[in-house]
Amino acid sequence: MGRRTTITLIKCDVGSLPGHHVVPKVLLDIGRKRLNQAKKEGLINSYYVFHAGDDLELLMTHDKGENSPEIHSLAWDTFLEATEKAKKLKLYGAGQDMLKDAFSGNVRGLGPGVAEMEIEEREADPIVVLAADKTSQGAFNLPLFRIFADPFNTAGLVLEPTMMEGFKFEVLDQKERSRAILKCPEEMYELIALIGSTERYVISHVWRAVDDLICVATSTTKLSMIAGRYVGKDDPVAIIRIQHGLPALGEVLAPFLHSYFVEGWMRGSHWAPIMPVSLKDSRCTLFDGPPRLLALGFQVTEGEIVSDEDGNPLIYDLFDDPAFDLARRECVEYASIIRRMGEFEPARLPESYMEYTALSKVLEKLKDRFHPV
Ligand SMILES: [Mg+2]
Repeated sequence: MGRRTTITLIKCDVGSLPGHHVVPKVLLDIGRKRLNQAKKEGLINSYYVFHAGDDLELLMTHDKGENSPEIHSLAWDTFLEATEKAKKLKLYGAGQDMLKDAFSGNVRGLGPGVAEMEIEEREADPIVVLAADKTSQGAFNLPLFRIFADPFNTAGLVLEPTMMEGFKFEVLDQKERSRAILKCPEEMYELIALIGSTERYVISHVWRAVDDLICVATSTTKLSMIAGRYVGKDDPVAIIRIQHGLPALGEVLAPFLHSYFVEGWMRGSHWAPIMPVSLKDSRCTLFDGPPRLLALGFQVTEGEIVSDEDGNPLIYDLFDDPAFDLARRECVEYASIIRRMGEFEPARLPESYMEYTALSKVLEKLKDRFHPV
């Protein structure tokens, strides 16, 4: 039996500037200070603080398991302190995702997004974290399908005997608040039938079929469901385990050779091409976008993110690479095409998606102007 280690990524939009652009250093420093203190006290083993656009992201490894009240409370308190600072500085959207006042042991359902995975450490445990800004949870459906079920993306599905047994996908129905597990390749068509509806069905976990090894955990927070109104997009995160009978690093990154369309962008109300970017370009500009996606790679050993001699975690910025220039260029080209449509569908999301946006206020305003025909 290998060592059991939990990887937790909790994120929250606590305020940014200018507008919905980036988390300023002063808030990142609050994250670093709090997590450094928690590491000294032995609550967590290692950490890395970063931002995906306007979202403050706390990546931690620890021994407390998933849904630990101590770990969730550490994140909640960190976001509270960052919110106070953001309010003092009058940053934009200060405390935007902090939707509830009372913390009761778990940040799920309170606003922050969480992806967590308790693993039994293998001989080597390489991990990739995805973090997106200005989009919704369903943005990961297409690449996760391609990584774990599409042999045209992942050679291991054809060449590696343990992977040939396939993978199990947990699909969350965000409308009915229910879940189902589908197995590929046997139920590939049924899986696509569901997860092609990205606004309703989202992949929340993936396991290797041969031994139920956990390989993916995503955040599945739907902010509008908590708040009952539009409060910004969910900006999902995912933790993906790779190699040793799982997709290789390059197979996890291969779907991002091309851009594709996701929900989000300006006021969370548009179809948008997604752009894989490095940490330095993790900031939305054009029409509050295009939605940006980060991929960070690291390894976990003896409960910690492997670090250098000075104790700095070795985190690799995987999209900081000319191999993704084509996707970035495609993204800008798609953006220029679809923005010509303004607020006409299909540039704007269909009405069924717009329930929690400003459109509902416009419809309310006009409701007495309609008469039977
Ligand atoms: Mg955001």
